[in-house]
Amino acid sequence: MTSLLGEGPGAKAPDPGTAGAPGPGVPVVLESRPDGVPARTAAADLLATDLTSLGATAAHATAADVDRALQATRRGLQDFAALLSPAASHRIEEMARLAHEATVRRFGRTVHLFAPLYLSNECVSTCTYCGFSAGNDVARRTLSPAEVLAEARELVDRGFRHLLLVAGEHARVISKDYLVDCVAALAAVVPSLSLEVQVWDTATYRRLVDAGCDGLVVYQETYDRGTYGEVHLRGKKRNYDWRLAAPDRGAEAGMRRLGIGALLGLAPGWRAEAVALAAHAHALLRRWWRCELTVSLPRLRPAAGFSPANTVSDADFVQLLCALRLLLPDVGMVVSTREEPAFRDAVLPLGVTHLSAGSSTEPGGYSPAGGAGGAGGRAEPQFEVADDRSPGEVAAALRGAGYDPVWKDWQRA
Ligand code: SF4
Repeated sequence: MTSLLGEGPGAKAPDPGTAGAPGPGVPVVLESRPDGVPARTAAADLLATDLTSLGATAAHATAADVDRALQATRRGLQDFAALLSPAASHRIEEMARLAHEATVRRFGRTVHLFAPLYLSNECVSTCTYCGFSAGNDVARRTLSPAEVLAEARELVDRGFRHLLLVAGEHARVISKDYLVDCVAALAAVVPSLSLEVQVWDTATYRRLVDAGCDGLVVYQETYDRGTYGEVHLRGKKRNYDWRLAAPDRGAEAGMRRLGIGALLGLAPGWRAEAVALAAHAHALLRRWWRCELTVSLPRLRPAAGFSPANTVSDADFVQLLCALRLLLPDVGMVVSTREEPAFRDAVLPLGVTHLSAGSSTEPGGYSPAGGAGGAGGRAEPQFEVADDRSPGEVAAALRGAGYDPVWKDWQRA
């Protein structure tokens, strides 16, 4: 979901002299609409990072490089790249043990549960990999704030206290005012609300924070600029840099949680994608250290005429998950219902801290009055979920594995 809406003054180029400097310190103007990204942002830091060198390490690291990375007490991006390498794929059991120990040390045996709530599948952007893409002949629907509230009440009844509001990109139908109205309607009944919608300027994020939103999720989809241009054919989402700086704008506006991710399988070469994703997370942690950061690892699934060309195997996924945990011990790791139940259960101990559960990817898909057969009619889901266990079944599986499901970890004042 999501994209870019341009409504600010001109572009600002990255400032190489300050790229990499830690801490939010000086307020930054992030409303600009760039052919670049604003200076003193995590986006600028990422663009100033030598991803080529890191990618070479990820492709060609030696056994000695992997040894060094495994033995390091504090790891950097070069260590991470070594842990992604083919040489490290032979050390996966050792990586898994270390990743598990690091996760239990930082998070205990707890897993945060949340649910996506789809507000709308209207979209004017064309993204080759998405079932909601403009031009796809699918049933479209936008829930009214009252219908959104009915969906939320249903999810609250199922145990959830953290919802992720999701929508396609249609600035007139899914407008700023509409989103503020939805957040305001839900804030009284849902303690924690995150947004995964088109990207906005800082002022709009401030309005959403003031209405009760505390989290912003923006997947860059792919960090490979060439692939990005090839898969985002039309719409405001084509602006790579504006999207890249969206988490900075959200943090500047007061979002407490930030979530980033890449659609694994979109670009050729998962290692290069993983290096960029990790570098972005690294940069966000340095710039916005007061925010809680999560990283998502969604593997692409087939959707409305699209089949992923670049598959990421289970073994690759496990290596990536472990390497991320060893680089970023305090960052939340999200695995969604795109993955099969047995696989989700199997990777849980390796670093996973957040799971969606009982998900519907269709607007109105939860409440009996809102979904199929309801007044609004049936809408197309974004993708078919692979783990269709109920929230209760997922929670029971967690307890069975020795973990406590956490439904609520935040209450706004
Ligand atoms: S087509 Fe899908 S991924 Fe692209 S902007 Fe629309 S909803 Fe988001």
